[in-house]
Amino acid sequence: MALIVQKYGGTSVGSVDRIKNVARRAIKWAEAGNQVVVVVSAMAGETNRLIALAREIQPEPDPRELDVVAATGEQVTIGLLAMALKSLGHDARSYTGFQVGVHTDSAFTKARIESIDEQRIRADLDGGRIVVVAGFQGLDAQGNITTLGRGGSDTSGVALAAALGADECQIYTDVDGVYTTDPRVVPEAAKLPSITFEEMLEMASLGSKVLQIRSVEFAGKYRVRLRVLSSLTPWDLPLEQERNSGTLITFEEDQTMERAVVSGIAFARDEAKITVVGVPDRPGIAYQILSAVGQANIEVDMIVQNQSVDGFTDFSFTVGRNDYARTLAILKSEVQGHIGAKDVIGDPKACKVSIVGVGMRSHAGVASTMFRTLSEEGINIQMISTSEIKVSVLIDEKYLELAVRALHRAFDLDAQPAA
Ligand code: ASP
Ligand code: MG
Repeated sequence: MALIVQKYGGTSVGSVDRIKNVARRAIKWAEAGNQVVVVVSAMAGETNRLIALAREIQPEPDPRELDVVAATGEQVTIGLLAMALKSLGHDARSYTGFQVGVHTDSAFTKARIESIDEQRIRADLDGGRIVVVAGFQGLDAQGNITTLGRGGSDTSGVALAAALGADECQIYTDVDGVYTTDPRVVPEAAKLPSITFEEMLEMASLGSKVLQIRSVEFAGKYRVRLRVLSSLTPWDLPLEQERNSGTLITFEEDQTMERAVVSGIAFARDEAKITVVGVPDRPGIAYQILSAVGQANIEVDMIVQNQSVDGFTDFSFTVGRNDYARTLAILKSEVQGHIGAKDVIGDPKACKVSIVGVGMRSHAGVASTMFRTLSEEGINIQMISTSEIKVSVLIDEKYLELAVRALHRAFDLDAQPAA
């Protein structure tokens, strides 16, 4: 008997009818002889609504209390889904994250799961029940309610799968798998039957929104078999078909198929570039600049420091566009004077486009194909960063679509038209 954790996102439980379909699908899996745990998000739009309510009271909501509010969305869904299961004649039980001991740290609004007490779930599964667990929420060591960050139910699903030693964690969502890039930007984007954890991690951290990054990290670390698949197929799709649908996230050593050099193109729209101009080139400068930014909890991404000329250099980095104004202010007020920089300038209209693929390790010339493709489109590259399996460039946001489409074609990712 297999143990399966299924996670359904907000769209998949966005209406009473959809919740009933989730119930039917879960029962289909259970009746085929599997033990089934279902993790759900809040109904579509609900978390946004709750956060907006909080903001009406406090523009910058108190993080502890915000989590108290935001965590309620999932509780509605688990109750409704358990009712749907029972009304279809299948025994079921719903639990909040707190009831099944999802222990987290105390970082409100972005807490990390530390452990899960899975005994209660196991007992219900052994009693033949489908267990429904609220995603996104946990409790810290002091008993405070925490949430795991937007999209955090993915991580709840994977963490439960890890704690239970599940055979597979199935992430049901409103797309039917992981694509070579966002099909809204490139209609020729193709669904990948499989992708490695490393690639998925890069895709997620580079802007692909299919899975929350932490869920991929978690699955890689605990070797959870993870599949992304559609909840919008008919619920009575034959099990054999559903079992192999979507995209399987695999380990590189388990891959059997010959792969393209580049597996996907990821992009992040809302980037901003900051340059500290004319910084004295001496030890400790990068630290001074970035620690001031880090202390304000602003995440820095790409970093470039030029060769110095006459003892001075320019230091550039990117931040999310939301943090642009704050970063500029911090650097101007706290840093510029201290370190004797000439100026701090920025551009809030940047975006990042990345090519990702484990095949890059064994192929030369991948970056130059990327740069040639962009130059042929007349797109200027502002910054570059690389890892073993990705190359990212920062470009003007107005060229985003053009760049993604051109790269998709250049790396032969366009889907073959059906014969
Ligand atoms: N409901 C939460 C959110 O919207 C968690 C999730 O859906 O994964 O971010
Ligand atoms: Mg999601």
